[in-house]
Amino acid sequence: MSTPTLDRVLDAVLRVDAAYDIRFISEPGQRWFTRVPGAVLPSNFLSILHADDVARFQQCIASSPDSFSCDLRILRNDHNCWVHVRSYRLPALHQLVLCIIDISMWKTEDAALRRAAEHDELTGLPNRASLKKTVDQRLQTASGVFSVALLDLDGFKKVNDSYGHAMGDAVLVETTKRLRKLLGPEDTMARLGGDEFVLLFEGKNALAAHQALKKVLLAVARPYDTAPHNAYLGVSIGVAEYPQHGTDYSMLLKNADTAMYYSKNAGKNRVTVFEPTKANVDFSIKAAIHDGIQEGEFYMDYQPQYDMARQLVGAEALMRWRNRNLGRVGPDQFIPIAEEAGLMPFLGKWALRYACHQLKKFHTLAPDFVMSVNVSPVQFGSDSFDEQVIEVIQEADIDPTRLILEITESTLMSSQEKTERALARLREKGIRFSIDDFGTGFSSLSYLTRLPVSSIKIDKAFVTAMDEGGSAGTSNKKLITAMINLAHSIDLKVVAEGVETEAQFAFLKDARCNLVQGYLTGRPMAAADIAKQLQAHAEAIA
Ligand code: C2E
Ligand code: CA
Ligand code: CA
Repeated sequence: MSTPTLDRVLDAVLRVDAAYDIRFISEPGQRWFTRVPGAVLPSNFLSILHADDVARFQQCIASSPDSFSCDLRILRNDHNCWVHVRSYRLPALHQLVLCIIDISMWKTEDAALRRAAEHDELTGLPNRASLKKTVDQRLQTASGVFSVALLDLDGFKKVNDSYGHAMGDAVLVETTKRLRKLLGPEDTMARLGGDEFVLLFEGKNALAAHQALKKVLLAVARPYDTAPHNAYLGVSIGVAEYPQHGTDYSMLLKNADTAMYYSKNAGKNRVTVFEPTKANVDFSIKAAIHDGIQEGEFYMDYQPQYDMARQLVGAEALMRWRNRNLGRVGPDQFIPIAEEAGLMPFLGKWALRYACHQLKKFHTLAPDFVMSVNVSPVQFGSDSFDEQVIEVIQEADIDPTRLILEITESTLMSSQEKTERALARLREKGIRFSIDDFGTGFSSLSYLTRLPVSSIKIDKAFVTAMDEGGSAGTSNKKLITAMINLAHSIDLKVVAEGVETEAQFAFLKDARCNLVQGYLTGRPMAAADIAKQLQAHAEAIA
């Protein structure tokens, strides 16, 4: 039986009789069974078979007596060893030939691979797949209450960006250590990826979990040692409870995620327990934005901008959304959600393209007409922002000097080199930038001279505030005059926003403001209404 070829492949070949007494062991098999000093050759196969595998082995023989194969554990050199056994019947001798391959290496590698597949390499915590398994098992075996908390670190990206990924990794490991200390023996902790963790509180309802999670907030709030400076992080947490907020893994996690997202929006570093009514509204908004982009539910209105002689010189494009279920949704509502959901780069590019194509049409009536388009800070975060803008301008075939991008102070303050490069490159092409909501950002003014900005937009709040009675109104007027003078002194133009009354207009004109935009001169309107005005003007001067 033991041919030279088989000898090389097989670790042992045995022949056993009807009572499983071993009648023959191949030579390599004899060596294989006696690797350690003092080891003796086995005399009966069943006696070296692992107790849990005996029944399976006998079942195999019963069901396919001529030939079968199976994996078994046998005792060899005092150790249990996984082997692959292939058996052939020798009818004439009433014996079986057992060809044995040692597969214990594979089995341990298997276990190691399985472990790797179920654990997060960095922190050693169970990963997403393993968490699902744990929850599924938990749901099958027990019915009592438990809570799922989804954690997302606040400020982690900053650590990664300013101190590098190695430091980011160290923070995640340190966070794991801090949180582990707060868990009971029954509780589970997992890492979903990035800076997202899940805690499973066994036997606790959401309220009790909420209580326990306060300690988590404190633990994360302690400074992290990220030389040369300490980093301060927070954590936004959402909690869902079984069975009240979900009866399976994905429902529980989804609802915990929704609640976490509420924590983020409410100012971060807090715990929110899932509430079905409140959560559903926003959840559907997020999904509906996604669909709405595809369904063509978004469009732009244009709010006219006038110079102080009341000539129409330009417009600001303002995004609008009419959803079949939700009705009209204001940009103040949907833009933060789109930003958070990662939809803003796409939506922003859409808006720019829409506005530029409209500008091309306006130019047939008024070649100098200027279009202002809002740009969200997250759009600057994308690598190719400047290229996208240039591409859109080329596609729409417009004069870049007639496009103004409105950016906020926060875009400039968080100004990375990347942002500055994008601004410079676009400025080179002739595109101008305006600081939106000027004066609301508590920021340093140095960027005004450092970056290629061409105008500021005084926020509506300042314009409204000049109508306050007594000395407050007077100082607010002085403030506006000061802003205008400051801007002019460094060659910036000034647009006043939210101008609603003739008195405000008169004051701004006196103070040498350049443009106004507000309900007094015109609400945001359809492109056709702007075109009508341009048409009328063109006819009047013809
Ligand atoms: P914003 O850029 O400050 O736009 C001006 C907002 O003030 C507009 O609100 C406009 O309708 C409103 N407004 C203008 N004049 C008056 C007035 O005299 N009185 C009053 N009470 N309000 C006036 P809207 O359209 O709701 O836009 C809100 C914000 O949404 C915008 O503020 C802007 O930050 C954002 N947004 C709108 N469209 C876009 C867009 O395409 N992209 C980005 N990134 N943001 C946009
Ligand atoms: Ca704006
Ligand atoms: Ca504004």
